[in-house]
Amino acid sequence: MSKLKIAIQKSGRLSEKSLELLKDCGIKISTSSRKLRTESSNFPIEVLFLRDDDIPQYVEQGVADIGILGENEVWEKAKDVNTIRQLGFAGCKMCLAIPKDEVYTDLSYFEGKKVATSYPRILGNFFQDNNINVKIEEIGGSVEIAPSIGLANAIFDIVSTGSTLLTNGLKQVETVVESQAVLISNKNLETEKQAIVDRLLFRIEAVKQSSENKYILLNAPNEKLEEIIALLPGMKSPTVLPLAQEGWSSIHTVIKEDTFWDIIEQLKAFGAEGILVLEIEKMIL
Ligand code: ATP
Ligand code: MG
Repeated sequence: MSKLKIAIQKSGRLSEKSLELLKDCGIKISTSSRKLRTESSNFPIEVLFLRDDDIPQYVEQGVADIGILGENEVWEKAKDVNTIRQLGFAGCKMCLAIPKDEVYTDLSYFEGKKVATSYPRILGNFFQDNNINVKIEEIGGSVEIAPSIGLANAIFDIVSTGSTLLTNGLKQVETVVESQAVLISNKNLETEKQAIVDRLLFRIEAVKQSSENKYILLNAPNEKLEEIIALLPGMKSPTVLPLAQEGWSSIHTVIKEDTFWDIIEQLKAFGAEGILVLEIEKMIL
């Protein structure tokens, strides 16, 4: 039976999370050796460890069937591949920054200026869409020093905290796009391989759902049951069980991580007690 070849970053910001995702999907991969390829012992998948820049090309050509990389690289390389799922990690912004003492008004500031970047295609498309003429200086790395050495007036780069900008005397003035890790696939996968991708996606869905949700148990006074249940959507509706103590019930349900604190506060206000919040290991909808 043919194996699905997945390309992930060899070493860098995406490597650990990519392997962790596969592991959370129950896919065993030995990473003990420094090999550039390895097979899973319990899932029909072979992992290729590559530079992230090369992944779009390999997936387009079918050297790898699928790959995990930053969406920014997918846009920049503009290869003919399918982006099948955002993965929710390695989030970052791609920003324009200028020397911190410059006065910034709006995008027209950049008209006729030189901008240094490692992402000429994303930046070129952005300025073209906004009808602004700039000269793009493509450089491989250390983009932040370009203005201070006189190579460019501004830069376009990935920003997470902005501290690198500050230490180089720059300030962020525009966010052009936001990126995160994505799963891409070759456009002409054989049926057998597509079936493996579908199995993998099913597992990724379960892993992602579980990380976005919490299992919650609480005791509620019966006279407030209706109000409390109204706060708790649950997968279908919450489970309500009578407690041994007269006049009280136990409620079990699943809530979204991001609404969690709001809901807890309201529950307490309705007299809920003994609230337990548990991690969900996997969640199949
Ligand atoms: P490679 O050697 O594989 O080419 P790289 O140096 O190009 O690695 P990394 O710095 O490891 O790449 O970043 C990989 C991806 O992580 C980026 O393309 C981006 O999608 C994402 N990322 C998230 N936060 C940041 C950040 N603060 N700086 C750079 N990349 C980030
Ligand atoms: Mg790279």
